[in-house]
Amino acid sequence: MDNMVSGAHPVKQVPHRIYADHAATTPVTDSVRAAMELYLSECFGNASAVHREGREASRAVFAARKRCADILGCLPDELIFTSGGTESDNLAIKGNAFAHGLRGHILTTAIEHHAVLNSARFCSSLGMTSDTVLPEADGIVSPDAFAAAIREDTVLCGCMLANNEIGTIQPIKEIADTVHRKGIPMFCDAVQGMGQILVSVSVLGADLLSLSGHKIGAPKGVGLLYIRRGTPITPLLDGGGQEMGLRAGTENVAGIVGMAQALADAAAHTAETTAHLSVLSDALMSELITIPHCVINGTTERTKRLPGNVNVSFPGLDAESMVLHLDRMGIATSAGSACTAGKTEPSHVLKALGHDDRRATASLRFTLGYENTMDDVRAIGAAVRQITEQLYTMTGM
Ligand code: PLP
Repeated sequence: MDNMVSGAHPVKQVPHRIYADHAATTPVTDSVRAAMELYLSECFGNASAVHREGREASRAVFAARKRCADILGCLPDELIFTSGGTESDNLAIKGNAFAHGLRGHILTTAIEHHAVLNSARFCSSLGMTSDTVLPEADGIVSPDAFAAAIREDTVLCGCMLANNEIGTIQPIKEIADTVHRKGIPMFCDAVQGMGQILVSVSVLGADLLSLSGHKIGAPKGVGLLYIRRGTPITPLLDGGGQEMGLRAGTENVAGIVGMAQALADAAAHTAETTAHLSVLSDALMSELITIPHCVINGTTERTKRLPGNVNVSFPGLDAESMVLHLDRMGIATSAGSACTAGKTEPSHVLKALGHDDRRATASLRFTLGYENTMDDVRAIGAAVRQITEQLYTMTGM
């Protein structure tokens, strides 16, 4: 049964597993593992301790912070290490809201990650207000539409660098310029994009910026938040006063060292990664679009989309079931939409683009990584063609 589509059709297995879900997480790279090794073994000290073991750990955190700051174009003391993108987003939004005494208005976009949307909702539940700006039909937020939604009492604006479902790259600099003209800080969730776009806080014009290690070859459980000097933030965690008093908790020294290595690798290889992924995703998109019923979600303009992202819908089919069939064939990918209790919920991103539920529950997101090859692309194309043909036949479409 495991290799049949609904028990009726034999499923062709690809010769090896193909991982095409890099926006969900990435494998830890050899260079990151090598950089971390020492801090998982001999140098295990607590970075707050004054003895030699502690000082070694503290030096490693200091060096990692400096390394990250040089890459992102900021000062080391403007970087706070966190447990990942979710925590960084929460600290940026809730920490800023608490610093404003939970008064005022938060403006973000309708296609943000739930870590951002739900943080803003939480602040609204405590007495603030929040709004989201809809993107255009191609998944890009218009700076003019964003500017028009800023209110007199807006205390924080946020827009993601690149969307995690459809890969659209947002005009952050233009949005930030408008936001700054009104004297409001700009938050940017840059969790997706690092390694495929050069991320510099000054080029983007961000005052707060989130990054996550596990999206770029570091392990899960480490991330960072850039906080431009002077941007008001109240810490969310009380404790030992680590991270300049903004994020208490014993430092994840090995993770922090790994994060710095991953960031350095991502920055150093952005051009070649982008070139490689663009060739693969162009080929995959060209192949998928020839499959009956396939529609591409988001922009097809190369410069406005993450090079590794291909997001398509097969209206009328169920995203989760397509993902499971692909998994049985040896291909790991994901649905753009969440599955709750066996029912596929429409993707909030595709709904924000104006798509109906038939399309918003039928999306497949392929996010390619450096190890993917043209053979992988061909295998994915063939598998999607086979599965969708069978599923459409079964549903009588
Ligand atoms: N923001 C975006 C845009 C993401 O894609 C993700 C994860 O997919 C997050 C935030 C959360 O990051 P983490 O998994 O590190 O908590």
